Amino acid sequence: MDGYEKKFTDVNKLGEFGLIEKLTSEFTNRQESTMFGIGDDAAVLKYGKEHLVVSTDMLVEGIHFDLMYSPLKHLGYKAVVVNLSDIYAMNAIPKQITVSIALSSKFSVEALEELYRGIKEACRVYNVDLIGGDTTSSPRGLTISVTAIGKAKAKSITYRSGAKKGDIICITGDLGSAYLGLQILEREKQLYVSNPGIQPDLENEKYLLERQLKPEARKDSIAYLAKEGVIPTSMIDISDGLASDLMHICKASNVGAYIEEAKVPIKDEAQLMAIKFQLDPITTALNGGEDYELLFTINEKDLEKIRYMPSVYIIGEITNQEDGITLHTTGGNIHPLKAQGWNHFDEHDANQN
Ligand code: ADP
Ligand code: MG
Repeated sequence: MDGYEKKFTDVNKLGEFGLIEKLTSEFTNRQESTMFGIGDDAAVLKYGKEHLVVSTDMLVEGIHFDLMYSPLKHLGYKAVVVNLSDIYAMNAIPKQITVSIALSSKFSVEALEELYRGIKEACRVYNVDLIGGDTTSSPRGLTISVTAIGKAKAKSITYRSGAKKGDIICITGDLGSAYLGLQILEREKQLYVSNPGIQPDLENEKYLLERQLKPEARKDSIAYLAKEGVIPTSMIDISDGLASDLMHICKASNVGAYIEEAKVPIKDEAQLMAIKFQLDPITTALNGGEDYELLFTINEKDLEKIRYMPSVYIIGEITNQEDGITLHTTGGNIHPLKAQGWNHFDEHDANQN
């Protein structure tokens, strides 16, 4: 045991981003067509005037979803949507997906057909083609890996790295609801496990549950920005939580930022549910994750053009790197923003994306 501890490093020590960095830092790109590789929501490939963007994401049973409360059709839909969200985060339009699955023998053909009904629905809604994938068996559970390919004009691609001091920070919708939806589902699961006869009471929580089980990607926001001729200076999709994803932008852009607590949109039902769970609503918005809203920055000169954008919220401003990343609270205090992004390797964080 001692020898093991000396020789091998626990993956938890590095965390997700540290591990990716460690594994990939010595790779260099050889191809002229590789405009951007690792480190954004999607890779960018140059083929002629148009650029391709490529992104991949994996969902693992017991880590990212629990089949006790995730209907398979919704799961198929969500597996596609979370990938398309990364394509939109580059200001690109998704065109094709591949879907790979690894499954144990507990899954029936009918169950997988249900999963694919969800995938098909997402293809219809987002106008993308399923063009391939891979199918294999697994000793336990279900793993779904989706790769999405999108297209964009070279000049409209938005990276995490383009934010400048004075830029305005915007998000495309409310935050925290998906996390609270998950808390409700977990609560009901515990109740069911301790008393299988009990009927879950989920009728009143439709919005929060839908945000968790069947999220949408912001196709509409990308279309609006294109129509208005606005190219954000930077963009990311909020998958880990506003705090963590804003930090990615600030780190990649070498800038600081402040956001105003009072401007962060939280729906009334999310506020109420957070309080029921004895959580601070702003914490669920900052650290909840899985919202799949877009977080983007624009030059001040574009402010007029997004003023009437549906469900857009202006929440703060980009500052100098030395100023750090701060939250201006409703009470008038200034706090450094902390990211409590989910550690995917921690067992007690199972079911967080
Ligand atoms: P997102 O949350 O937007 O899906 P991630 O945080 O998963 O992005 O990944 C950050 C970056 O690291 C991306 O460019 C992704 O493609 C890359 N990446 C993640 N895992 C690996 C891996 N195992 N090998 C190579 N690149 C990886
Ligand atoms: Mg992303």
